[in-house]
Amino acid sequence: MTPPVRTCLGCRGKAVRSDLVRLAWDARAGVVVIDHRLVLGGRGCYLHPACAAPAARRGVIGRALRRPVDSEQVAAVLAGLATTGPA
Ligand SMILES: [Zn+2]
Repeated sequence: MTPPVRTCLGCRGKAVRSDLVRLAWDARAGVVVIDHRLVLGGRGCYLHPACAAPAARRGVIGRALRRPVDSEQVAAVLAGLATTGPA
């Protein structure tokens, strides 16, 4: 079986899904969340952990999710990724 491959929203590179984080819109809370377990429906986007913060600054996450997102809220969520060291 070929593992599922997704395109990183940040660098447009392709990667195995398990190497990427999925961001999705939590309609109940009205925030962007990290879909760790790939359980949230609706629109989502995939990013390398290191690509997530720059992508959020460029505003591409809101575009991918087709809704205005609060970039500060997204940045706060991404801070929870706790990437190791400066990317
Ligand atoms: Zn990337």
